Amino acid sequence: MGYRRKVRIRKIISQSTVDGPGNRFAIFLQGCNIRCLYCHNPETQAMEDAEAQEMTTEELIEAIRPCVPFLRGVTVSGGECMLQAEQLTELFRAVKALAAEMHHPLTCLLDSNGTIAFSRYPELMQACDGVMLDVKAWDETVYEQLTGAKTNSTVRENVRWLLEHDLLEEVRIVCLPGRVDVETILQNIAEIFDSIGKTSPIRLLRFRPHGVIGELENAPMPTDEQMAQLSELAARYGLQTTIR
Ligand code: SF4
Repeated sequence: MGYRRKVRIRKIISQSTVDGPGNRFAIFLQGCNIRCLYCHNPETQAMEDAEAQEMTTEELIEAIRPCVPFLRGVTVSGGECMLQAEQLTELFRAVKALAAEMHHPLTCLLDSNGTIAFSRYPELMQACDGVMLDVKAWDETVYEQLTGAKTNSTVRENVRWLLEHDLLEEVRIVCLPGRVDVETILQNIAEIFDSIGKTSPIRLLRFRPHGVIGELENAPMPTDEQMAQLSELAARYGLQTTIR
C-alpha cells in the first residue's frame, strides 16, 4: 500500500461507543497545545512521552481491518489531533480505501479543541466526514483561565467554517457551573447557526473529576437538575442538546 506516514499515538480503543455515532475505532494521539484545568487525559498533553508510540498509516489500517465489520467509522482524538493534521490526511484516505475494499462504509471523524484552523487543511477536510468540536468557553478571559491559552478566536471561527462546510458533527461543551460560561457559549452558537441558516447537535458533557489533576480534582460534578436546566436554556436558544 505504501502508506508510510507516522502518527504519534497514546492509545487505541478498537470499539468505542462514546467517540461519535455508532461503534468506532478511536485513536487517541499524543500531544496537546493547551492545558485544560478539567483535562481527564493529562497524560496525552506532552508532545513526547515514553508511553506514546509511533504507528504508520499502514500499521493502523491493519489494526482497523479486523474490526471493520463491527464499525461505523474511525475517530481521531487527542491530545489535539490537528497537531498531526498532515499525517491524518493519509490515514483518512487509507480508511476510505479500506472501506471501499471491504464494501463496508466507514466515516472518519475528528475530535478537536478547535485551536487550529480547519480551513488550512483542505485535503484533510475533504477526506473527513465531520468534526466534534470542543467549545470550552466563549469569553476570552474564561477561556484563558480554563485552558491557559490567550485567545479562542480560531475556535470561534472554526464553528462558523465547519458549519458552512457541513462538517460540524457536533459541538461539545463541558459543563462546570461557576467556571464555564455555558449560557454565553449557547447564545453565541445560536447566533452563528441563525446567521448561516444551518444547525448542528450540541452535546452537554457533565464535568467529571475522574483523571483530573490540580485545582479541579475535587470539584463537584453538576447535578442532574443543573444539567437539565442547561438543556432547557439551550432549547430557549433553539438548540438541540444531548446530555452525557
Ligand atoms: S484539549 Fe483535551 S487533551 Fe488538551 S488539555 Fe484540553 S481536555 Fe486535555
